[in-house]
Amino acid sequence: MKELSKITETFTESVIREMTRISDSMGGYNLSQGFPDFDSPEKIKIAAIAAINNNFNQYPVTFGEPELREAIADKVRRYNNISCNYKTEITVTCGATEAMIATLKAIINPGDEIIIFEPFYENYGPDGILSGATPRYVTMNPPLWNFDYEELEKAFNNKTKSIIINTPNNPTGKVFSKEELKFISDLCQKWDVYAVTDEIYEHILYDDNKHVSIASMDGMSERTITINSISKTYSVTGWRVGWAIAPARITERIRKIHDFLTVGSPTPLQHAASKALFFSDDYYKNLRLKYTESRDFLFNVLNETGFKPFKPRGAYYIMADVSDLWNIIKPTDDYDFSCKLIEKTKVATVPGFSFYSKSDKKTKQVRFAFCKKPETLNIVKELFSKYL
Ligand code: GLN
Repeated sequence: MKELSKITETFTESVIREMTRISDSMGGYNLSQGFPDFDSPEKIKIAAIAAINNNFNQYPVTFGEPELREAIADKVRRYNNISCNYKTEITVTCGATEAMIATLKAIINPGDEIIIFEPFYENYGPDGILSGATPRYVTMNPPLWNFDYEELEKAFNNKTKSIIINTPNNPTGKVFSKEELKFISDLCQKWDVYAVTDEIYEHILYDDNKHVSIASMDGMSERTITINSISKTYSVTGWRVGWAIAPARITERIRKIHDFLTVGSPTPLQHAASKALFFSDDYYKNLRLKYTESRDFLFNVLNETGFKPFKPRGAYYIMADVSDLWNIIKPTDDYDFSCKLIEKTKVATVPGFSFYSKSDKKTKQVRFAFCKKPETLNIVKELFSKYL
């Protein structure tokens, strides 16, 4: 038979989602994929049921129901200091995942380079390939996951079309500072580069860290695409309601890609999302408090069990160096470490290599997701103390 598409040979399936399947098949405790195992907020569920009963069950406006786009425009004005026109500058997509691929498809031509901070959320690798871009990686170094300004400066050139920013960052928990974003924005303006920023964890911040949207910085609104979703903030990762905010000339292109990829994100869930965006400040305060407790709890458990965790400043993941456990688990590489860890302890993690461009699986890091019930994290503590 004729061969299948060549491009699909150039990347693998998601390791994050594979680890969930392995965990499920073994009755494991899933600290691999970043989705909550606790209930979604009652109010958002009621809003979705009401939307279905109110007959919002047919195709939505392809680029997003007006009610949701208005709510998004209002929310980014309040929280992100971004002003945008909901009629021409927002595209509602099936999650931030579709927003990212549709954005890259809308701006990239073959041969264009994109800058990606490494480690990176694993989707950005295939996103880059599928859009035809050539990636250039800039390293973020533990424990604080800072990047070297000179290395970043050297990554920019005439071929650079875009830089992907993800703050708060998955998997490292880094929160990009105003100073770092200013440095990036100066380079974007110097080299005429688009900033594509994934801000899905914008409300999940610890200690005194503040979220800054690069689109709000001087000279950046015309060259920034801001991506977000309701998945993480409202604990509804299966709903697939996300969006991209961009100047009208870019939005026009994103909307075309989106329309032919998926037509639209589920209509009733868009209506429920538009209500969630008006939750009171208390909701966000409680979210932070809850995740701060989970972060501190898991961080201590990992420290006590011989992992060397890096404390996140935002998002809901902990990256940990596992070299001290290498002799106990006796793996051949990162992937094998995660597989053997789940066999030994029933706890599922994501092997570090999945967040790096090198495929040698030798990072000696794993990622834990702690968006889980206190009971789940407690069981993990018991399992680790029993088996490690
Ligand atoms: N963001 C989640 C993670 O990193 C997964 C998202 C997904 O699987 N679509 O685990």
